[in-house]
Amino acid sequence: MAEEFYQADREAMTPAERESYYASRLQEIVAYAYERAPAVREKLERAGVKPGEIRTVADLARIPVTEKDNLVALQKAAPPFGGFLAVPPQSLKHVFFSPGPLYDPQGTEEDLARAAVKAFHAAGFGPGDIVINAFSYHLVPAGLLLDEALQVLGATVVPTGVGNTDLQVKIIVDLRATGYVGTPSFLLTLLKRADELGIPRTALPLKRALFTAEPLPPSLRKAFEEEYGLATANAYATADLGLLGYECPQKSGFHIPAEVIVEIVDPATGEPLGPGEPGEVVVTTFNRTYPLIRFGTGDLSAYTAEPCLCGRTSARLVAILGRVGDAVKVRGMFVHPTQLAEALSRFPEVARYQGVVTRLGHQDLFTVRVELGAEGADRQALSGGIQAQVRALCRVGLDRLEWVAPGTIPAEAKKLVDERTWE
Ligand SMILES: [Zn+2]
Repeated sequence: MAEEFYQADREAMTPAERESYYASRLQEIVAYAYERAPAVREKLERAGVKPGEIRTVADLARIPVTEKDNLVALQKAAPPFGGFLAVPPQSLKHVFFSPGPLYDPQGTEEDLARAAVKAFHAAGFGPGDIVINAFSYHLVPAGLLLDEALQVLGATVVPTGVGNTDLQVKIIVDLRATGYVGTPSFLLTLLKRADELGIPRTALPLKRALFTAEPLPPSLRKAFEEEYGLATANAYATADLGLLGYECPQKSGFHIPAEVIVEIVDPATGEPLGPGEPGEVVVTTFNRTYPLIRFGTGDLSAYTAEPCLCGRTSARLVAILGRVGDAVKVRGMFVHPTQLAEALSRFPEVARYQGVVTRLGHQDLFTVRVELGAEGADRQALSGGIQAQVRALCRVGLDRLEWVAPGTIPAEAKKLVDERTWE
């Protein structure tokens, strides 16, 4: 039974197969949601779109994006689900609550668990694993959903939830737990506590970990893998939409499961963007309980359609770059402070920096101000290196690199500021 959940064929469809698969599921859900969910009907009518006109993923661009903040307002105006519930309330399996505040209804459809099963399977989890599930089991969906997915895979779950560090270390050792699912920071807490308790690392039974809900810094991942001998995988999920991307053993980005349509769009216009262009993650689910059509996550990412060595042909989100609100558009390309931080982190000589976008004669001017930690650095070599890294990671070139005296940039200053005026 587990196999039909994670089978690779859906993820290995040819581009033509994927297009027709998505088109047929999309037509079905749009027609269904239009009939059953008043908020979807209203959204389409306001945009002057008839459900029959949405035939392919490309047609989705005609439907406006509903941002998470709008959903909060819609739920307030039409409580509790904002007019998006498409089934009788008494048929719901769970109702979750997430900060916003937002109510997330969950019905009996299998798509949510199916996508989560794929993530665990790709991460090497399976029958015989004893897994510590350190996500919360109340209010939010993470704990229960991942629990269900692990059960489908044939693993044994220990629902430890959040906190109780010492107890969780004891459970891992006593039960010979082989797997962990939770945030990377909490796993680090557990492993450090085990070290403090004098438990030899070789005596820890953990073999693999699946993370979500938090960024996974490369240095932390390296520590898990090299110092603790763990296989690690990362996944991208949201409370409203479930799992939206998962890593295969190639660790080459988040494969998008066939259970959702993920678009990367220009946050200002809602227009879909091409491969490699950073924009907002916008999701359409096939969820018949709560059909969110073109839901804006507020997360910033970019996708690649390059084939992956694992054999899955699904597009991948390259990374979650941050939140849309913090990004600054430079010459039409979104640049996020985390991209700039990543680029500058390669240069230990740099003590502080700040990216500044200004306007000169109707042209954007992208400057990075740099404070050096010590005198005597080779500024010319550094300048070339920084320019190359910024171009590679932010995908826009620097117009100017300014060396400023130590103490010029306050410690608490924003790392990327937009100083443009539009007069
Ligand atoms: Zn892959």
